[in-house]
Amino acid sequence: MKIPCTLIPGDGIGPDITDATLRVLDAVHASGGAGFEWDRQIAGMAAVKAVNDPLPDETMESIKRTRLALKGPLETPSGGGYRSVNVALRKAFDLYANVRPAKDMIPGGRFDNVDIVLVRENTEGLYAGLEHYIKIGTDEKAAAQSVALVTRVGSERVIRYAFEYALRHGRKRLTLVHKANILKYSQGLFREIGQQVASEYQGRIAYDEQIIDAMAMKLVLYPEKFDVLVTTNMFGDILSDLTSGLVGGLGLAPGANIGEHAAIFEAVHGTAPDIAGQGVANPGALILAACLMLEHVGDLTSAQRVRRAVEQVLREGSTLTRDLGGSATTVQFTDSIIGKLESAPAAAAR
Ligand code: NAD
Repeated sequence: MKIPCTLIPGDGIGPDITDATLRVLDAVHASGGAGFEWDRQIAGMAAVKAVNDPLPDETMESIKRTRLALKGPLETPSGGGYRSVNVALRKAFDLYANVRPAKDMIPGGRFDNVDIVLVRENTEGLYAGLEHYIKIGTDEKAAAQSVALVTRVGSERVIRYAFEYALRHGRKRLTLVHKANILKYSQGLFREIGQQVASEYQGRIAYDEQIIDAMAMKLVLYPEKFDVLVTTNMFGDILSDLTSGLVGGLGLAPGANIGEHAAIFEAVHGTAPDIAGQGVANPGALILAACLMLEHVGDLTSAQRVRRAVEQVLREGSTLTRDLGGSATTVQFTDSIIGKLESAPAAAAR
């Protein structure tokens, strides 16, 4: 039986890369795997144009029903008091873990053997939205304060998710990244909970810790030494862009937003307005996000087949999109991936 899934094509290059991803999924599911039953919905600018609401109730209801969504990038309309659609989705579904794998797939890149998965706490920390100005005398904005909220429940669930992810994916080590030497309370609590949870996984997943600034340096010097990372919201935001940069940038960076009741899979990049409508966008990031979604629903074989096909096309290097140094269109790049899937049927990939 097909798995119900909400599909939000998104804005800018979104519809092109979504079409590409659906073609790849159709091709892989033609020879095995349950496949998805898509419930197409709108959000972002497309929804503002259609129903004057960047996040229509119908879209929310669909995700509540399917608990699973594949989402193209969304443009949050500037002005008009619109909230960020991505933040609203994250909050509405309490998507507490943002998972960002960074694996080098392009030969001759800056690094070899990079295969890092960063798990970022997605709902609290310095991005909890607890901010205000402090008036002193007549100056309304004499000071500003942002509160870094770290809770036991919030920390434990994301750290546990990272350990479980590591186990499920045959990973060996989890590194908790923190700044507890300075932020003794908020970061100290996150670290303390990390140590408690780690003790439950002793003997199965190795655990160590890095201070954020040292981590940034080590990731640039020898990223191949790291495996799974877990960290608080803002550190994760910054480090995950760094890890994307290590392996060739945004065009191949997928992301998953995981909650108890829903999971949303997307490319890390935005709507790329500068190339929208030209048919040259790289669909790789969304295709790899679809691989994360396949793994999430337990279809490991299809995920592995698609990832291998993408890797083969990247390795051969003859049909790369412009951002990867080639001149292929979105459709040509996608056709090459599908060609690899067809030449390596399901049984052979197992
Ligand atoms: P962007 O990621 O859209 O673009 C940055 C640069 O990378 C551009 O030069 C673009 O052409 C290039 N690029 C991005 N994706 C590419 C792809 N798949 N193939 C080839 N080149 C690609 O970032 P931006 O310009 O800062 O943001 C544009 C819009 O996207 C904004 O409205 C922003 O709010 C939105 N955005 C949405 C999401 C999301 O929905 N998850 C994430 C980031 C930005």
